[in-house]
Amino acid sequence: MKCLECKKELSYIDHKNAFDTYGVELCKPHKVRIDKLVSSKNTPIEAVQLYYGLKAIGITSMLEWWDGKKSVDLAISRVKLNIEIDTDYTTITHEQAILDLEEAMHSFKNGFTTIRIPHVVIKYYLKETVKNIEAIVEGLKEDIKTI
Ligand SMILES: [Zn+2]
Repeated sequence: MKCLECKKELSYIDHKNAFDTYGVELCKPHKVRIDKLVSSKNTPIEAVQLYYGLKAIGITSMLEWWDGKKSVDLAISRVKLNIEIDTDYTTITHEQAILDLEEAMHSFKNGFTTIRIPHVVIKYYLKETVKNIEAIVEGLKEDIKTI
């Protein structure tokens, strides 16, 4: 059991605290850092899980990336990919849905691709989600090369 950020060996209690909250291994200072982010930005826990899932396969992303207008749950800036986690997918209103679509269009105009992932997909299919994002990142890299 090692911290995913600093590789420090974790005590049982640090492991339990981080794992019970986020389902990932973090030492106390690194858990506190995520706690602060989650409480100040309302970051979905699934964004944290996805962040570490991507990190595990060598994809660097940024939690709560500020795009100049809004905070994006997760961004892979190298390939201009924004990932938004939808936490209340089943109760989305038509007003929210059209706002989401317009936001996606604005980001696209700025060269960014936005994908929206329902949080339950990350909860139940983290590995598959990571694999799919990896493929999207590879595809975007190819696009960048051809420009
Ligand atoms: Zn650490």
